[in-house]
Amino acid sequence: RTTVVNGLKDRAQDLRKSFIDSLEEDIRDFLINEAELHTYDDLTKVNPVTPSTVLKCLQARYSAKVFYTHAGCTLVALNPFQPIPHLYSLDVMREYHAAPQPQEFKPHIFIVAEEAYRNVQGQVEPMNQSLVVSGESGAGKTWTSRCLMKYYATVAASSQKCQDTVEKIERRVLGSNPIMEAFGNACTLRNSNSSRFGKYIQLQLNGSVLLSLRFTHEHEPEMMKGATEKQRLEWMLPLDQDFAWLPHAEKTLEEDCLQETVEAMINLGIDESKRTQIFRILAGLLQLGNVDFRPASEEAQTCDLDEHSKGKTADLLQVPLDELQSCLTVRTLHAGKQNVLKPCSQSECSVRRDCLAKVIYAQLFDWLVTFINNSMCADSSMWCNFIGLLDVYGFECFLLNNLEQLCINYANEKLQQHFVAHYLKAQQEEYVTEGLQWSFIRYQDNQGCLDLIEGSPSSIFSLLNEDCRLNRASDAKQFCVRLQKELSHNASISWDKFSKQPHFTVAHYADKVSYQIEGMMEKNKDPVPPELISLLQNSQDSLLHSLFADGDHESEGLRGHSKVVTVVSKFRNSLESLMKILHSTTPHYTRCIKPNPDCRPLTFKREEVIAQLEACGIVETINISAAGFPIRSWLVRREIRKWHKAASVIQTKWRRWRVWMDALAEAELDDAEDFIENEASSALPKLDRLLKERGSVQ
Ligand code: ATP
Ligand code: MG
Repeated sequence: RTTVVNGLKDRAQDLRKSFIDSLEEDIRDFLINEAELHTYDDLTKVNPVTPSTVLKCLQARYSAKVFYTHAGCTLVALNPFQPIPHLYSLDVMREYHAAPQPQEFKPHIFIVAEEAYRNVQGQVEPMNQSLVVSGESGAGKTWTSRCLMKYYATVAASSQKCQDTVEKIERRVLGSNPIMEAFGNACTLRNSNSSRFGKYIQLQLNGSVLLSLRFTHEHEPEMMKGATEKQRLEWMLPLDQDFAWLPHAEKTLEEDCLQETVEAMINLGIDESKRTQIFRILAGLLQLGNVDFRPASEEAQTCDLDEHSKGKTADLLQVPLDELQSCLTVRTLHAGKQNVLKPCSQSECSVRRDCLAKVIYAQLFDWLVTFINNSMCADSSMWCNFIGLLDVYGFECFLLNNLEQLCINYANEKLQQHFVAHYLKAQQEEYVTEGLQWSFIRYQDNQGCLDLIEGSPSSIFSLLNEDCRLNRASDAKQFCVRLQKELSHNASISWDKFSKQPHFTVAHYADKVSYQIEGMMEKNKDPVPPELISLLQNSQDSLLHSLFADGDHESEGLRGHSKVVTVVSKFRNSLESLMKILHSTTPHYTRCIKPNPDCRPLTFKREEVIAQLEACGIVETINISAAGFPIRSWLVRREIRKWHKAASVIQTKWRRWRVWMDALAEAELDDAEDFIENEASSALPKLDRLLKERGSVQ
């Protein structure tokens, strides 16, 4: 008997050891393993979710050349700054498209694309979709948008048998890109091909066939100084000439891009004479940028323009030379019924020159957008669903910030609110209605900040507009006092007592940004002197003439006191209409991250990334998604499957343990049974502790 009992004891002890060991192993699998961080496809799995664990995980993935990671309902895309051809090949696209559950594949922008594609064609309830791609300058938004368009072109084309149709669809979908980029992008310090306009493209679908695109756009006020965008057209002008508005760029690259632009124009049906006109106007703008002003001398009261550039500009824009000279250097003031001519100072002349270029460029850009829409859009009577693609400039905070940054950051606040409203509020309410137990995630409600910027009766925008409406002489200090008087009750605004410059600081959801007030009011008024408009209306160039013929655009003269359309009002209106569309769609968010400031391939700078993660509130997003996931579709299924597996392993082991216990009990080996019980009671706390280490396991 003793021998048997001892044998059983040994066996039980061995079993206990292996049971505990293997359980430990199972459980460790669920705890963070630094060496395997790169395998975390979803940041909601990182435990605990903190900025530092999320950063570690993203860094590990980036080093392992894995660039996409889910963050619950958002996709995080790290910019490799290096072509990764195998990641975007046609085969990969087809694979994701054909998969019954693409979500189970590695995270990829194609998962987002495919999900939207399936939703928009939903059998039961097809719903319009929006893909919102955000991130800071150079993070890869435009690249991602292009990738999405290419995916849809390929997918839509693959449902067609005829190669001709395939090519036609691809041309249609992708053809507009080079034009919009050639005209809307600029070489900036942060991105050599930076989009200086927000872009919302609608891909209209009828059945599985992609019909067309519709562009809407949003100018960044003031920043689009016409000619800086036209480096691609350098060859149109003498190679030995330098242009003030043209950064030096590699000639070969420029030629390639130009060729691509011309081809895209041909594909869209812009005929040769129109193309010539467009390029002439652009060349005219480059020459205009070189126009310098000599200060007024004793004899000649007005500034003079240098002959060479002035003549060329007038030629190319086909406007009378003397009128060009006078409208750039003399201002017409209305005094009662009389007009008084007042010579402009040298710096006022430069402002008028820039204004002329800007207004021409803006009208030309609008014309192109309308042309592209008209040439590609489906018959408006035809009912279609659409996938909207929003490529929007991200949150900006520079050393000096002004109206441009205020508008951009305001747009980002709006998008953040949309995101919060969509994912958080909806999810929390859903849980409450379903009576599910869960703790509320605290999220930052940015309504206060939006009230500060755009609310009524008093907000930064309303005060700026009031300044413009009452035609007050712009005085930064006085404006600052007005802001303090009207808005200091709002917790989102503050002032630094020690700053010498009139300014205000806004606590955005992403960060605090200080805006300088100097120049802000003028930028908001954005006046176009009426003389400039009438100069362009007199152009012999039929395109230029038509751009200004309808008197639609506001100029100082056309603006009555009752109808003042300021930059912030225009910006706000177009943002409102965009938000309306977004609200009527199912959104999908992609956050592009720029891993280093110098666009260096495969370089991950922790400080750079953490700032962006904070700016887009990623940790908050992950927490919310993690809290919400028990009910959410594929993530849940994947998770449950994993747990089933783990549970069945534990069950098997438990069963084996039980068999031994039962065998011992049956043998009526009392002391052996005691022994087993003792063993179990010492084993269980250990097991408990292990389980506790991972709260969700419990
Ligand atoms: P902006 O706001 O200034 O317009 P952006 O976010 O649109 O910036 P992109 O122009 O899309 O930035 O990207 C900047 C550069 O990064 C691209 O020219 C490209 O070289 C590189 N890039 C971005 N995403 C990828 C990617 N997935 N693979 C390879 N290179 C990429
Ligand atoms: Mg861009």
